[in-house]
Amino acid sequence: MVHPKILEVIDYDVCTACGACVSACPAGAIVMNKKAEVRDPDNLELYTKGAAPNVCEGCYTCGRICPVVDGYFEDEFANVRSFFGAKSDIEGQDGGATTAIASKLLELGEVDCFVGITRNDKWETELEVFTDSEQIKRAKGTKYTYDSVLSALRDPFEKYDKIGVIGVPCQAHGARLISENVNDKIVVIIGLLCMESFYHDVMSEKIIKEIMGLNPEDVVKFDFAKGKFWAYTKDGESHSVKIPEVGPHARNPCHHCCDYTSVSADISIGSVGAPDGWNSVLIRTDEGEKYFKMAEDELEIMDDPKPGMDLVKKLATMKHNNNSQHYLEVCEKFSFDECGIR
Ligand SMILES: Cc1cc2nc3c(=O)[nH]c(=O)nc-3n(C[C@H](O)[C@H](O)[C@H](O)COP(=O)(O)OP(=O)(O)OC[C@H]3O[C@@H](n4cnc5c(N)ncnc54)[C@H](O)[C@@H]3O)c2cc1C
Ligand code: SF4
Ligand code: SF4
Ligand code: SF4
Repeated sequence: MVHPKILEVIDYDVCTACGACVSACPAGAIVMNKKAEVRDPDNLELYTKGAAPNVCEGCYTCGRICPVVDGYFEDEFANVRSFFGAKSDIEGQDGGATTAIASKLLELGEVDCFVGITRNDKWETELEVFTDSEQIKRAKGTKYTYDSVLSALRDPFEKYDKIGVIGVPCQAHGARLISENVNDKIVVIIGLLCMESFYHDVMSEKIIKEIMGLNPEDVVKFDFAKGKFWAYTKDGESHSVKIPEVGPHARNPCHHCCDYTSVSADISIGSVGAPDGWNSVLIRTDEGEKYFKMAEDELEIMDDPKPGMDLVKKLATMKHNNNSQHYLEVCEKFSFDECGIR
């Protein structure tokens, strides 16, 4: 019986559910259910690929593209080439820069599709492959729940040559490992900043209904800002609770994650470090520079945004300090030793 490393990642509940293994497995042996858990971690023989009963071929690809197996960087700012503020005309989560860049690259034909997520009125997410700018504009806004974005790459790998990914740091990391090891059709990775995310049921039942006393369908926007978790409702009201009331309910892998700014992305985008209504943007690679330039006309740029990079670094350090010990303790338990913080 083969024993892919990801089985241990799943067993110890540190699988981020990024979906990289789902798309990279040549046998199609791995599937995600809607709760973003990998099915039957202890019994790959029960994974289904059509009628084939025993599909894992023991190629170990999944272990090479798993961000948790790959580990984290001590200094996630070493590859930052430039940092600035940006905003667009699009009313996105913050400055709408993510949507503006992605939609421009689709319009120019520089990217055939982006994989990402959208949501319905109940804030349930759906994976989507965006092929035109109107689609991507409909997906704007942050969902603090999680979906396995990279598992949506399977189809685009068959159909398209120039694929973009929009995702949180664990997804940017998985996408980078896929493009380096398995499939070079991913041309640009836009990574969001991310402190944590939540399972849909926890967000909906525990946080929105129980802690905040709201109905998810009444909420038009969620945000973490100024030490609080905010919900903006259709009646124009804003509601908030202090972050420590919701933070402990984040998914378990998020308590082990040591990447705040999407170190593996070409372009990283967040809100922290820039004024309200603006994005903070970090360019990290040649491709990041190239693709950002193509979309620059859609954006207003602020050269030295405040409160600036110091705050981004402070929060990244906070995340590392909170989580690195948890992650290293799990690494000790793994039967392999690639993982760690380098
Ligand atoms: C779980 C989570 C936690 C975050 N935490 C922080 C933080 O601590 N500090 C910070 O500065 N920024 C954080 N962000 C990023 C921030 O909320 C904005 O997404 C970012 O500033 C981009 O803003 P925008 O106006 O350009 O986005 P928009 O133009 O509105 O576009 C947002 C894009 O992100 C995609 N998206 C939304 N939610 C998800 C998701 N869950 N998974 C994958 N893709 C998604 C959308 O589909 C859309 O394409 C977080 C984002 C997420 C998803
Ligand atoms: S070892 Fe290869 S075939 Fe088996 S689950 Fe991993 S990627 Fe798929
Ligand atoms: S590649 Fe992603 S989904 Fe697969 S085991 Fe690793 S973290 Fe989980
Ligand atoms: S905290 Fe880490 S594991 Fe959790 S969603 Fe964000 S990037 Fe992924």
